[in-house]
Amino acid sequence: MKVRMADLGSQYRRIRQEVEPQLIAVLESGRYVLGEHVSALEQEIAELCAVRHAIGVNSGTDALKLALRALGVGQGDEVITTPFTFVSTVEVIVQVGAVPVFVDIDPETYNLDPNLVESAITPRTRAIMPVDLYGQSAEMRALREIANHYGLWLIEDAAQAIGAYHHNQPIGTYADIATLSFFPTKNIGGAGDGGMVLTHDEQVAYKIRSLRVHGMNGGYYYEDIGYTSRLDEVQAVILRAKLRHLHEWTERRRYHATLYRSLLADVPVQLPVALAHNYHVYHQFTIRHPQREVLREHLKSLGVESAVYYPHPLHLQPAYEFLGYREGDFPNAERAAKEVLSLPIHSELTEDQIALVAEGVAEFVKAEVATL
Ligand SMILES: *Cc1c(COP(=O)(O)O)cnc(C)c1O
Repeated sequence: MKVRMADLGSQYRRIRQEVEPQLIAVLESGRYVLGEHVSALEQEIAELCAVRHAIGVNSGTDALKLALRALGVGQGDEVITTPFTFVSTVEVIVQVGAVPVFVDIDPETYNLDPNLVESAITPRTRAIMPVDLYGQSAEMRALREIANHYGLWLIEDAAQAIGAYHHNQPIGTYADIATLSFFPTKNIGGAGDGGMVLTHDEQVAYKIRSLRVHGMNGGYYYEDIGYTSRLDEVQAVILRAKLRHLHEWTERRRYHATLYRSLLADVPVQLPVALAHNYHVYHQFTIRHPQREVLREHLKSLGVESAVYYPHPLHLQPAYEFLGYREGDFPNAERAAKEVLSLPIHSELTEDQIALVAEGVAEFVKAEVATL
């Protein structure tokens, strides 16, 4: 492969000099879990996202689950969310005993369509859980208004969107709780799993800090039934080093997006729609084409990797059949799942590589149009 979807080895080599002495120091210190680097990382992320509290946990999935638990969402409650997301968003709702209620996406941004949310609200609805898909904020301002009007919690799955802005405010600031993932391939990723919970609320922060250590407060005294969900020092050292590069790496992703847009300007293919009030961080650069699978094969023959996020909407997955949805319920999500294709966009790419990918797409799309 000449162009890959991610290049984590090269990314590591950029931070190696600052990170390796600190990793050795951590190993020699014997303090491995929830130490000074985790605290410092929490502080740094809270500042970056302009929230009062950031709490490190074991994964982005756990961050979501602890968020629901901290807000008391559970048995018999309904949570409105999108069927076009990574499975975590939905599985945690079921895991806490609540019921996911899907609402279709906007076909241009692939994010939850705020205009469809109100009709899904019932007396059992407790929360709205939007996702900032591909690195672009969901319509958080509109959703905040709906949540306020109906007295619902707003939980933002920002796993793909660290560093993104919405109406000039960092993602996370509109929600009661927002969550991040530090899975290795995310915009800032560790060398393993990690995640974070963001909130302005002191009591929620206290609850999350307790839930991540078995619901413990003080010495072996348990106020809640909790989890094992701590962030470790090795991850925190790596994440702190990468965080110092976040702005530069995000700008690089955005520059690559600009290059794709100019190289594909005359090609009849649907490019990502970045709304003017959003600062998109391009976790993915996702185009759509009705012949997605053939296009993908063509790119592969040129040595270009691509990926499909996500090939099946969650309401049609076997595991979620019990919710009772069927094909045709969410046409925008269903069509997107058949047509989306994410192209390499990461910060380690060269302009020549972007040009190679764009040429491959252009060549394919023009040949397709010619045969019509
Ligand atoms: C990656 C991701 C998660 C889960 O994060 P993990 O750290 O892998 O548990 C949740 N939601 C979305 C939208 C994601 O992309």
